Amino acid sequence: MVLTIDQPSAAPDAASPAEKPSLAGLGRDGLRAALAEAGVPEKQLRMRVNQLYSWLYVRGVADFEAMTDVAKELRAELGRRYTLARPQIVNEQISVDGTRKWLLRLPSLGRGKAPEIETVYIPEAARGTLCISSQVGCTLNCTFCHTGTQRLVRNLTAQEIVGQILLARDRIGDWQGAELPDDGHLLPTTDRKITNIVLMGMGEPLYNFDNVKAAMELAADGEALSVSKRRITLSTSGIVPEIARWGAETGTSLAISLHAVRDELRDELVPINRKYPIAELLEACRNYPVLSNARRITFEYVMLKGVNDSLAEARELVRLLAGIPAKINLIPFNPWPGAPYECSDWEQIERFAEVVNKAGYASPVRTPRGRDIYAACGQLRSESVKQRASERVAAADAASSGNGA
Ligand code: SAH
Ligand code: SF4
Repeated sequence: MVLTIDQPSAAPDAASPAEKPSLAGLGRDGLRAALAEAGVPEKQLRMRVNQLYSWLYVRGVADFEAMTDVAKELRAELGRRYTLARPQIVNEQISVDGTRKWLLRLPSLGRGKAPEIETVYIPEAARGTLCISSQVGCTLNCTFCHTGTQRLVRNLTAQEIVGQILLARDRIGDWQGAELPDDGHLLPTTDRKITNIVLMGMGEPLYNFDNVKAAMELAADGEALSVSKRRITLSTSGIVPEIARWGAETGTSLAISLHAVRDELRDELVPINRKYPIAELLEACRNYPVLSNARRITFEYVMLKGVNDSLAEARELVRLLAGIPAKINLIPFNPWPGAPYECSDWEQIERFAEVVNKAGYASPVRTPRGRDIYAACGQLRSESVKQRASERVAAADAASSGNGA
């Protein structure tokens, strides 16, 4: 059973630029500017920023009045000027396996309709992974990826990227002293319920470098969200020039969407390969600044029936990765309406995995999670797109009946 909670769209103005701005998700610089604007004297700014920063990102408060060590008048002034609102939830779904997916509406920033993104939480017994989006849509057109069929609408701001984490923590009670949801769905037994963050939602994170970097700095900051850098993983389709820079500037873990072992096929599946072919990509991996046996790069390989799943390709994969501290994730292809591929047969995935295992890789086959709510890799946005398609049909029906047809 899928549980869907439609949030009343009580805050349609959350998408309107006329709304009071939210401070939730801002870094120290942004908070400093907002406090200065609210009249906090220069010599108090540092102390006030620290107070706010801690209330926002250690305690997760969503109300200025809860900030008991901030002077009453200042709390009132902040409340007059700002909010602590998170991105607006349009829809929340919980899968039978405990996976939670949120459809979020963002401000249009003056460019047409308010865009929507998705954030997914995947609980396991001993860890909880939050999969976040970095862009609305994607400029790249990987042929097996549903996000890739949508044009890029815009980059997310750093505040919107952090906002996804705040909102997820709100919904699963992952703040100091907060209550866990009592809906009976799986949560990890760990102290923190979000132990890992993966940039594997919508978009190519290295094409929104600065905002993703600022957001991950806040996520990793021990005085803010405190998710260790090694438990933050950026997944990229292979933007070679940005890989070294990302590693040097942030030191997070890295995942590469490889999916093919020959350029000819990868050119087709992951078209950015025409610009940055496999040999260059693997060279960038070998040189990744934070690479060791304890910090391996994850290579993602989506299993497409009759396309990239032969045993010869499994052997070639192992040969290609020799010498790189690597993990291999075989991902069963998650279908979406109109997709030009099928998932490999289970026996073939197992045979493929056996070749990889024999070469010394643990290579877990990643069990698709949240498939019933379209939350699995590469399926993001599909449900909302379907809804829009049906809206279009309804609109067309209404129009044609209006025409007396
Ligand atoms: N743009 C980045 C991150 C987002 S995609 C990237 O491409 O790495 C996250 C992962 O999901 C990538 O490995 C992507 O290749 C994979 N993926 C996309 N569509 C998929 C599908 N339909 N089934 C399984 N995995 C898919
Ligand atoms: Fe974009 Fe990644 Fe999808 Fe490719 S797989 S289209 S890079 S989101």
